[in-house]
Amino acid sequence: MRPLLVLCSQLFTAVAIAAVPIDLYVVCNSDGSNPVMTGTDFSSKLPTVNAYYAQVGMSFYLRTQNTIASNEWRVVEYGNDEVDELLEFVPATGGVKMIAVERVEGSPQAFADEKGIVFTPSCSADVIAHELGHVCGLDDIYIQKTFTNDANVEVTVTVNGVASSNRMPLDWGRYEDGTSQAALIEKLLMYGDVSGTECDLTAGDVYGVGISTVTNPVTGKVSYPYELKMVPVGFWLHGNRSPQSQ
Ligand SMILES: [Zn+2]
Repeated sequence: MRPLLVLCSQLFTAVAIAAVPIDLYVVCNSDGSNPVMTGTDFSSKLPTVNAYYAQVGMSFYLRTQNTIASNEWRVVEYGNDEVDELLEFVPATGGVKMIAVERVEGSPQAFADEKGIVFTPSCSADVIAHELGHVCGLDDIYIQKTFTNDANVEVTVTVNGVASSNRMPLDWGRYEDGTSQAALIEKLLMYGDVSGTECDLTAGDVYGVGISTVTNPVTGKVSYPYELKMVPVGFWLHGNRSPQSQ
């Protein structure tokens, strides 16, 4: 039984089914040949994506298919300026911009920011759905993260123990008693590592490892440590049901 989520779904449904347009941009050769994927390839992933978003009364549809003719942008490097240039090359459309490239070097094969999503044809529907979760305003949640802190010390943060009501107050009762918090996090759509087991969207936030933004009061330097906290993955609390890429 998932009583609270059912209630939330009904609530969302009562407000309106939000159908969000996706404008797809597929990189092809500079002469217009050899697109990295077809609109049909992309559309084949949407039923799975939409099955997950039915949990919150949302769906996505492919509104337009476009090409970007550029040999240079077939392969992009994560974190490189060219990625920003690519995202800015496509003006805001009023929907979600998704740009398909052949390959991303140095990182996961999909990522999202306020300007849209860059992904490769190898991405599964689960990965596409996860990136759309970011576009809607949700964070990644992890079981364990190792990072170098402000004092240049390597720190590992890990979730331990079993799930409890204060670790997921709005969704308590959804999972079996005795489930470990780590196993539960693996079931979430916003689980940030690759081997998730399901694609649950929660109504509220969930305790786990998340990223924070900290400004050093003396130096003004901004850092992004991972810490144990209530991670903003709750769609009821944070989900934008009309996301628009900038
Ligand atoms: Zn993510």
